[in-house]
Amino acid sequence: MKKIGLIGGMSWESSQVYYEIINEKVRELLGGFHSSRCIMESVDFAEIEKFQHQDDWVSLNKMMMDSAKILENAKADFIVLCTNTMHICSDEITKNISIPFLHIAVATAEKIKEQNINKVLLLGTRFTMEKDFFKDILSNDYGIDVIIPNQDDRKTVHTIIYEELVRGKIESKSKQKYQRIINDSIKNGAQAVILGCTEIPLLIKRSDVDIPVFDTTRIHAETAVEFALK
Ligand code: GLU
Repeated sequence: MKKIGLIGGMSWESSQVYYEIINEKVRELLGGFHSSRCIMESVDFAEIEKFQHQDDWVSLNKMMMDSAKILENAKADFIVLCTNTMHICSDEITKNISIPFLHIAVATAEKIKEQNINKVLLLGTRFTMEKDFFKDILSNDYGIDVIIPNQDDRKTVHTIIYEELVRGKIESKSKQKYQRIINDSIKNGAQAVILGCTEIPLLIKRSDVDIPVFDTTRIHAETAVEFALK
């Protein structure tokens, strides 16, 4: 079994879900007493959040690259960055390590294509919804049409992530807001929704919406296990 190198803490609320899913998947596939060989480099999210909102991607690139290097030096066989947003730094990471990097958008796109879905709603932080790093992989490499909420709704989705979900607050009012935004997208042709922020699955479950749900936390964590056991 390969050793998974996890860059976590963004936020720890979702990193613990990664750890749980990874170990459950290893147990499902190998049975017995098996559990995952993994190592986590967990950062202080306060620093990340500060640089994100200052648009200081130079500092963030360096932090992510340093974390990946620490894991590589600790003999991780490949890297899993446990957040969507920070994949903005994926080029900088891959340039500076010699072990594989498992991209969250690639893992997600593979699952969407398996289900022959061509048009999806992407929910995430405003960085993930508005910048191109995630959407371009889906549309350019997999031919999937990506729609995002309107400006007001993007603000709602983003604010709930930073004010509530990364702080461990789960509010039913917020769930209803997300449900309304997802329902509006169905009228605009969305065939499925990507929960493109690793904390959104803490709020929205499959049974809360009428279209297929692509939970990036689960997809990424399970893909990591499949890769570790290959
Ligand atoms: N975990 C979140 C994501 O998947 C947001 C927190 C962060 O900015 O890393 O995008």
